[in-house]
Amino acid sequence: MSAYYDKVAVVGAGTMGNGIAQVFAQSGSQVLLIDAAEAALDKGVATIETNLGRLVKKERMTQADADAALARVSKSTQLTDVSDQKLVVEAVSEREDLKAMIFKTLDEVAAPDTILASNTSSISITTIAANTKRPEKVIGMHFMNPVPIMKLVEVIKGHETDDATLKSVLECSEALGKTPVDANDYPGFVSNRVLMPMINEAIFCLMEGVATKEGIDTVMKLGMAHPMGPLQLADLIGLDVCLDILEVLHGGLGDDKYRPCPLLRRMVAAKSLGRKTGKGFYDYE
Ligand code: NAD
Repeated sequence: MSAYYDKVAVVGAGTMGNGIAQVFAQSGSQVLLIDAAEAALDKGVATIETNLGRLVKKERMTQADADAALARVSKSTQLTDVSDQKLVVEAVSEREDLKAMIFKTLDEVAAPDTILASNTSSISITTIAANTKRPEKVIGMHFMNPVPIMKLVEVIKGHETDDATLKSVLECSEALGKTPVDANDYPGFVSNRVLMPMINEAIFCLMEGVATKEGIDTVMKLGMAHPMGPLQLADLIGLDVCLDILEVLHGGLGDDKYRPCPLLRRMVAAKSLGRKTGKGFYDYE
């Protein structure tokens, strides 16, 4: 197996980071997985082991290949362990100040030709890149959840991202078995700019009593062939995350069509955040 990049680093070992590390390890890259929390690293690697085990059980992978992929993942709690990796993918929590600190440090420790990518869902790549002295080598690499299963990688060009960086990341995404789509750096990119207004409108429909929650989800499932209704999907994503992204769209694009629905705000205030709290539009207890 020949990996597109021999060595990569993934910063953040949470939901997205361990999935990203897994797909790179499966493609043959040596992966340095970094997280500030030792427990998150252990959990991340355990998740990769479980997921690879499932592939073996389903006979999609041999035990030897799964063992080899797992052996390609090493752990660290130190960003300063990044050195000569050709690519670093950042997948830490969605906070602009945190990403700023991480990119400033990565810029100082990574080799000059290392590409620095962010998996951010909503923060401007141009803003993230401005924390480095290599904005031409900073790019968005927006994987979807769950990473090992979902085919799409939305690749986002910041204001200064150069063509060589874009080409390299598009080719790398294909080598991972994904389908990349490139987008320019505007709020929400394509995925959330299209998805979140639909979810928001579904919540308005519920608030105004247009139909029941089950009715709204059924219309979109059976009528539009969506695998999941918008309210079910909002519960899966997390209502707080939906609200944050709508605020980014509303603030960044300045158009009231992105104003978050008052019912969404009320549910977030009540900590009815969806599956993660056991209660959102539906009950999960
Ligand atoms: P998560 O909370 O599961 O994981 C974040 C990880 O970052 C945690 O393990 C945390 O310990 C680590 N972290 C925090 N501060 C750190 C630091 N200073 N150094 C190193 N590690 C640090 O979050 P997630 O859901 O995996 O999201 C990660 C990124 O991916 C976010 O930018 C999010 O917007 C984006 N994203 C998430 C999804 C999703 O469905 N969850 C989908 C697409 C993109």
